[in-house]
Amino acid sequence: MSSSVTAYIDMAAMQHNLQVVKQHAPHQKILAMIKANAYGHQLENAIQGFAEADGFGLARIDEAICVRNLGVDKTILVMSGFYRAEDLPRIAEHDLSVMVHHFLQIELLEQATIERPVKVWLKVNTGMGRLGFLPSEVEAAYQRLQACSQADKPIIFATHFPDADEVAKPITAQQIQEFTHLTKAYSVETSLAKSAAILAFPDSYADWLRPGLMLYGASPFVDKTAAEFNLQPVMTLTAPIISIRQLPQGASVGYGGTWICPEDMPVGVVGIGYGDGYPRHAAAGTPILINGKIAPLIGRVCMDMLMVDLRGHEQVAIGDQAILWGKGLPVEMIAQQANTIAYELLCAVTKRVEFVTH
Ligand SMILES: *Cc1c(COP(=O)(O)O)cnc(C)c1O
Repeated sequence: MSSSVTAYIDMAAMQHNLQVVKQHAPHQKILAMIKANAYGHQLENAIQGFAEADGFGLARIDEAICVRNLGVDKTILVMSGFYRAEDLPRIAEHDLSVMVHHFLQIELLEQATIERPVKVWLKVNTGMGRLGFLPSEVEAAYQRLQACSQADKPIIFATHFPDADEVAKPITAQQIQEFTHLTKAYSVETSLAKSAAILAFPDSYADWLRPGLMLYGASPFVDKTAAEFNLQPVMTLTAPIISIRQLPQGASVGYGGTWICPEDMPVGVVGIGYGDGYPRHAAAGTPILINGKIAPLIGRVCMDMLMVDLRGHEQVAIGDQAILWGKGLPVEMIAQQANTIAYELLCAVTKRVEFVTH
């Protein structure tokens, strides 16, 4: 066990979660989403853990080049594409696939002088309202790309869901229907599904799946746990107990004096804070796992430390390791306590945290 804040990365859990995707959709290709440093799990680990994926999805060109330079020879898709002419030679040189979602990009492709054509995914906005051609623009965009020798063929069509985690809302089924209808006119491969759709909307599978969060062992649904889907948490974030003190009834704990000891009680200090990526807005009562037993967070989270209520934990000693999330304590639960989502917590783990794979 390390003496500092450590994120343990379970490589077997990564492989297992990828198999769960394959069990849901055995005939589809998988683009493992590893943007934002693989949702905070580090690119090298993800490339190894998801070695059986058919490709990787990243947000930015620099991230994608980094993955290519790590020796990956599969499809690497830049989800946000490009918006500057000077990026096209780099994209071609590293054989990246790019999302084309705007006529400006088509113009840049038409004008480019590049060493080889660029692989293109055409993004359709069916309700996300972020990147993508409107359904009414798709025909024009497709025809120009077909005629553009700098765009490699065949072109793949993609769309994205804003609400697939809210299964009762009608929008996802409507998007699937509209996109399927729209793309039927072209004999192209298509891609719709992120994690929530893989778990809840089998009609969305098409040709390429784009799982992110579920590969890291977290659930995209507020009302369903990862365990219910047989997913295993990949990251376990730990930190040592660095102090235990008996405080008297009425003593104030932490900045702002937001927590007052209701009786004489042991207060533990765990050596992790928002400077490591633990959320400052985690509410008092947020669970922390110490020697297999839950202890509640008390007071405000500090930059490098946080305090726990150790009543009923008489056996805990300085140097023991606390689990902040991971095995035995889902990151989704911490996210809920901090008014955020698991995605944000995983991405927010900072550079000073030590990473150990096992
Ligand atoms: C991040 C992302 C995904 C993966 O979403 P998850 O909910 O993490 O599975 C899929 N598609 C696009 C376009 C994304 O940006």
